[in-house]
Amino acid sequence: MAGQKTAILSVYDKTGLLDLAKGLHDQGVRILASGGTAKMIREANFPVEDVSAITKAPEMLGGRVKTLHPAVHGGILARNLDSDSKDLAENSIDKIDFVVCNLYPFSETVARINVTIPEAVEEIDIGGVTLLRAAAKNHSRVTIISDPKDYHDFLTELEKDGEVSEKSRQRYALKAFEQTAGYDSAISDFFRKKYAGEGEQQLPLRYGANPHQKPATVFMQDSQLPFKVLCGAPGYINLLDALNAWPLVQELSNALNYPAAASFKHVSPAGAAIGVPLSDDERKAYMVDDIDGIESSGLAQAYARARGADRMSSFGDMIALSHEVDLTTAKIISREVSDGVVAPKYTDEALEILKKKKGGKYLVLQMDPDYVPPMEETRSVFGVNLRQHRNDAKISPADTFNTVITPKNSPPLPESALRDLAIATISLKYTQSNSVCYALNGQLIGLGAGQQSRIHCTRLAGDKADNWWMRFHERTLSLKWKKGTKRPSKSNAIDLLCSGLVPESGIERDDFESNFEEGQVPQVFSTEERKAWLEKLKDVAVSSDAFFPFIDNIFRTARSGAKYIAAPTGSQNDGAVFDTAEKLGITFVEQHIRLFHH
Ligand code: 5GP
Repeated sequence: MAGQKTAILSVYDKTGLLDLAKGLHDQGVRILASGGTAKMIREANFPVEDVSAITKAPEMLGGRVKTLHPAVHGGILARNLDSDSKDLAENSIDKIDFVVCNLYPFSETVARINVTIPEAVEEIDIGGVTLLRAAAKNHSRVTIISDPKDYHDFLTELEKDGEVSEKSRQRYALKAFEQTAGYDSAISDFFRKKYAGEGEQQLPLRYGANPHQKPATVFMQDSQLPFKVLCGAPGYINLLDALNAWPLVQELSNALNYPAAASFKHVSPAGAAIGVPLSDDERKAYMVDDIDGIESSGLAQAYARARGADRMSSFGDMIALSHEVDLTTAKIISREVSDGVVAPKYTDEALEILKKKKGGKYLVLQMDPDYVPPMEETRSVFGVNLRQHRNDAKISPADTFNTVITPKNSPPLPESALRDLAIATISLKYTQSNSVCYALNGQLIGLGAGQQSRIHCTRLAGDKADNWWMRFHERTLSLKWKKGTKRPSKSNAIDLLCSGLVPESGIERDDFESNFEEGQVPQVFSTEERKAWLEKLKDVAVSSDAFFPFIDNIFRTARSGAKYIAAPTGSQNDGAVFDTAEKLGITFVEQHIRLFHH
């Protein structure tokens, strides 16, 4: 029939097939179909030809080859070009206008428990995927229908206009491309689990964020994992921590040219620092005064600072270290309660110590320091995919803090201030938002993470900075612990004392007292003592991941010794914020990049 259109039908899911066949027949379309599809149409008494009518070849290999033939794919892929028409004519091939195809149910098959590889292999559709891709590729001429839900609209359009519009063909082609992509990724997921060496491209995890979230896995789609597991078995949250903490220390170290360390909990830093030499008081406050050789290890000093920032929060941390882990650093780690460590390298003796921790279950990850993640990052939340350009903003002490807003005609900031602002700001880049960070002496001293209001971040970070500073009060440094008191109990008692929360009586008081030698329970700090000591906290650098909407934030930072603030601007209250900083003698630097992180 001159001008007759041709359709090829090859569907696994035969829902709506007969309505489709009837509709096509009513429109005078010639219907070709593969084995099972043709059978069903024929049994319903609609005219249909087997694909072999055009291929002149039978289906073979138990159905593995049904539609894979130049008569089919030439007919689909031919464009409206003279050269293509000539090729078709020379080979007696007719153009195909419509392709209707859906695929063998690979995902459903492999979801069955104990499915074998041969069973899965048989469910890998070859000809169907080729039909979908070929027709979708040539959608400027051909219509590809891959979803039974589209039969109705397709037929309606065909009946009404006698053809399918370009817009519809584009929509159907996109759907077909999405289907082949999803299908291929289901196949590669299955074989990745079977064939990729464990720990190379993929790694099963015990569970996800919670024990009932099983199964869980970590994998790369087309390359090896950028880390190796040297000891232990990582959990889902360990990896979230490690993959945030590692870039933080790498960036800190590159920006400041020092070894760097971070101590992460729940995907935010409890501490982060560079290896600035420790004073005697710092060694005491950070509980490393008995560690030999610490003064000659920048990395050990960085971790002592990172862990020392907020010892209570660091309990059970995931540690990131920018450089090869040496014996001294491993010794510090070995006696803290910690979940794991990620670093680019370990000396043999350091690794030996770490491998003994937690009865041999301590997590030790070796990160490839040359790994660069792709520019785009995608995540899926509630089944919905979100994609964004990775946060590759560069923060550097030399370039990021040059726009001083107040005081006017400010002299250049001292190097220590630029260093601490860089530490605070880089830490925020890897902290759950909202966030505000206080830094001093090359380390974070207070961090407020994940609060919905900025003032709550500023207060939380300020309270932590105060708490940190109270640990340097002579009374705290000279506490007389009862023999056998464990390090975490010491950290908890110190936290209670320093935050002014020791109760006057009751079992909580008894518990507090039980940490100390008889007659050596420390006096709590009076309001005056606290005030007098906190007034000595000075030169603190504060950074914020977004602008300060109200002046209350500036007031709060000033109470914890803020001398430098770096923050984005853009609030309606900017003017008042700058004025308040000026009145309080704080240097306010505009930091141009907002750093929300989720
Ligand atoms: P039928 O039920 O018509 O025999 O088979 C339909 C199924 O075969 C569809 O899911 C389609 O994707 C698939 N198919 C079409 N052509 C080929 C082919 O050449 N080889 C294989 N293995 N499957 C095909």
